[in-house]
Amino acid sequence: MSATVIDGRLIREKVLGELKEQIACLNLHRPLRLAIFQYNPQIPDLLYVNSLKRVAKKLEVEVEVKTFEDLETLKNAIDEYNVNDFVDGIMLQIPNKRDYLYYTSLIVPEKDVDGATPVNLGKLIRKDKGLRPATADAVIRIIKETGYEIRGKNACILGRSFRSGLPIAIMLMNEDATCTVCHSYSKDISVYTKEADILVVAVGRAGFVGADMIKEGAFVIDVGINQVGDKVVGDVKFEEVKEKSAFITPVPGGVGSVTDVMIFRNLIKGVILRNEK
Ligand code: NAP
Repeated sequence: MSATVIDGRLIREKVLGELKEQIACLNLHRPLRLAIFQYNPQIPDLLYVNSLKRVAKKLEVEVEVKTFEDLETLKNAIDEYNVNDFVDGIMLQIPNKRDYLYYTSLIVPEKDVDGATPVNLGKLIRKDKGLRPATADAVIRIIKETGYEIRGKNACILGRSFRSGLPIAIMLMNEDATCTVCHSYSKDISVYTKEADILVVAVGRAGFVGADMIKEGAFVIDVGINQVGDKVVGDVKFEEVKEKSAFITPVPGGVGSVTDVMIFRNLIKGVILRNEK
């Protein structure tokens, strides 16, 4: 068996078309505006911003990137932008995980384009209307685009971070999959991965999953983005896993291509939620 390789860029184009229509329906009479606040940004953050700017240009969204020297000033800027009616979304790039969690919690939920605030994560668990973490949203969209039925399937998620693994698991559970989540303390991971109809890998280690770890005909989603020399690769050994799976996402050109546009989907959803208040 050789897998269908999912082209994230095609899905991205489709979502972009939908978003253009949604923006037109907002009748805002001004461009949408996304603020990105950075503190000690790393190279992947800078690349991500470039990619978001490319999407923004297509959607005619204004992106303002501010780099802060200290977190107190960043906090003041969040407070200011939270109440600024001309700012529709706020996204943070802070490498320290504890700081990231704390400072995202200060963003008003309707401007939380990353779906990272306690309120939006709580809404995700409760299945309430809210902004979903963009990567998890992208994973679900990718699966649905293929017409694959999630309900009743065994899903295994490798990784449990607040940004990727955990929300992906919750969203798959909300779609009625039976989920197993593995992390760095999990033993014999392949016992779980081999049972998975859907395998999502969000560990951040190049080549972590090989063909010997997957079930024949699985749907394999590689969230990982790893720099190896001058190449970007995923967490899955693409060439060998492709031969055993039914669907597989490549890196680059897979989940990451869809995540970008999901940020803008949240930007629009946030405006609608603010108007409903
Ligand atoms: P993270 O916060 O470092 O989390 C990594 C997760 O993997 C943790 O839950 C960790 O377990 C688990 N893990 C680490 N080593 C493991 C092992 N040997 N066996 C099983 N689990 C293990 O990373 P992240 O932010 O979730 O990102 C993960 C990857 O996805 C990175 O490559 C990142 O660049 C990429 N990413 C891609 C997108 C996209 O849109 N494509 C978006 C976000 C992130 P513990 O919880 O026990 O530490």
